[in-house]
Amino acid sequence: MVNHELDGQVAIVTGGARGIGAAIVRALTGAGATAVIAGGRDTDGKALAGELGDRAAYERHDVGCEQSWDTLLERTTEQFGPPTILVNNAGIYRPGADVTDTTPENFDEHYRVNQRGTFLGMRTAAAAMKDSGGGVIVNISSIASHRPYPNQIAYSTTKWAVRGMTKCAAVELGAHNIRVNSVHPGFIDTTMLDAITDEWNAQVIAATPLGRRGLAEEVAATVLFLVSPAGGFITGAEFVVDGGLAS
Ligand code: NAD
Repeated sequence: MVNHELDGQVAIVTGGARGIGAAIVRALTGAGATAVIAGGRDTDGKALAGELGDRAAYERHDVGCEQSWDTLLERTTEQFGPPTILVNNAGIYRPGADVTDTTPENFDEHYRVNQRGTFLGMRTAAAAMKDSGGGVIVNISSIASHRPYPNQIAYSTTKWAVRGMTKCAAVELGAHNIRVNSVHPGFIDTTMLDAITDEWNAQVIAATPLGRRGLAEEVAATVLFLVSPAGGFITGAEFVVDGGLAS
């Protein structure tokens, strides 16, 4: 029997108020964990926490800010205990310009949330996990880290970085009983994809062997597997959830 039980585990899910993050929060709490929904979407975050009762709490959080991570760690530990699971899910996707037209501001914005945010999250949570005997980190990258797409150099760069940082952290943290893996969604049906044109959406679906966008729940199921005892011997690995698009 495959063991997905998370009783007694304490999770932080960044960007957990909606989309893929909310599906991850539901999957982890459904398996027995308590979860902190961390992000800047107060209405959605509080509503999800309310729905999940004493299994979850919402905390306002900015992944790009070091101080915000210190506060989040403190609040998580006070409410539920030290974190044993971190899912670095928060991300932004603001494509549309080629390499010559991408502004340095657009580049920096993506860096701050997707790359620096993931680094700060691992840095903060892994320190706490080292002290408490171990843990699991999952970083949400993208298939944009496996193949190039036009007009999104800023986004893609950060997702390649997430892929690399995951492997660096995995080799350093294994000795501390901390596993670190990355998940690479393809085109998943969330509001993030409102940024793409209808024409591109149709092309992507036509190029996807399974012929559709994925569901947030299908990404969450992979995260649940990775953080659970079923994934206990997996670290430094990449899990593509894309309906075959990148193959
Ligand atoms: P989404 O826009 O619904 O979720 C992103 C979340 O990140 C939001 O809750 C947002 O408030 C939060 N966020 C943004 N900046 C933040 C900050 N500074 N601090 C804290 N939280 C912040 O989109 P989604 O599709 O659910 O995306 C989740 C993750 O999956 C992202 O990392 C995204 O890059 C990745 N991804 C999504 C797709 C897709 O097709 N939807 C594909 C590949 C990868």
